[in-house]
Amino acid sequence: MSLLRSVSDMHRLSTELRSGGKRIALVPTMGALHDGHLSLIRAAVAKSDVAITSVFVNPTQFGPNDDYDRYPRDLDHDCALAFGAGSNVVFAPTVEEMYPDGPVATVDVGPLGEKLEGKSRPGHFNGVATVVEKLFRITMPHVAFFGQKDAQQVAVIRFLVKSFDLDVEVIPMPIVREADGLAQSSRNMFLTASERAEAPVLYRALRLAAEQLSNGAADPVGIRQEMKEMISATSGVIDYISLADAATLEEITEKQRGQDVLVSLAVRYGKTRLIDNCHVRIP
Ligand code: AMP
Repeated sequence: MSLLRSVSDMHRLSTELRSGGKRIALVPTMGALHDGHLSLIRAAVAKSDVAITSVFVNPTQFGPNDDYDRYPRDLDHDCALAFGAGSNVVFAPTVEEMYPDGPVATVDVGPLGEKLEGKSRPGHFNGVATVVEKLFRITMPHVAFFGQKDAQQVAVIRFLVKSFDLDVEVIPMPIVREADGLAQSSRNMFLTASERAEAPVLYRALRLAAEQLSNGAADPVGIRQEMKEMISATSGVIDYISLADAATLEEITEKQRGQDVLVSLAVRYGKTRLIDNCHVRIP
């Protein structure tokens, strides 16, 4: 088990592992690890000889009004959890290690990064794609694990891999939830007790949409409206509610047999912005 803080140490180790024929898995994270992250790490351990967990709060994917400064950071605790889940290496570079000369050449993921989350967070996905590209080059993984919690991120990373012919297998993993349905997130710790009690409505709204898309009479416009009413009955402020084609991320207006739909939402409780989603195939 080793904690590496420098890019050159990490790159040297991965180069050695590769030449020794070892299979490397990477789990990119921003730390504040919870069971959602640990499910990715366990899957990475099962599918590789060496599982690397990266812990890096990447400034370039946060906008000026985002929560970069208050994002939780506790590297000792993260190491204990990551190693406990079987990770062989924790790679936790500083910002200066990753961006020693300030701005870098960036990856532009185009329109894919401008929809849904990208509309609310301009530049976010270019920041994500750029840092993941850097992490791939530094850690040289054969396989990388990402959570469906960030469904658009999975699409962006697949697009990155395809665009640059990267030799990395991308494996998406299911969303890990609390017992009441709230998706686990590093940001949940910022919720007040009353916000925490209200937040599972997001999952209930997604369940309602899934049910209506699968068996119900409501069309997408009606479903969005019902979800809006459910969430608006709490103190949550809706950023967006989307029923989109899972491949194109274009909003849908009618149900089409066999279509894969990504139902997603972002809602603010106080200062905390929560996201969640589910995939539904229309029967
Ligand atoms: P983050 O630290 O928020 O950047 O997340 C790191 C990785 O963990 C991303 O691929 C996330 O999608 C994934 N992740 C975060 N929360 C969950 C969750 N509740 N279930 C599954 N994966 C998750």
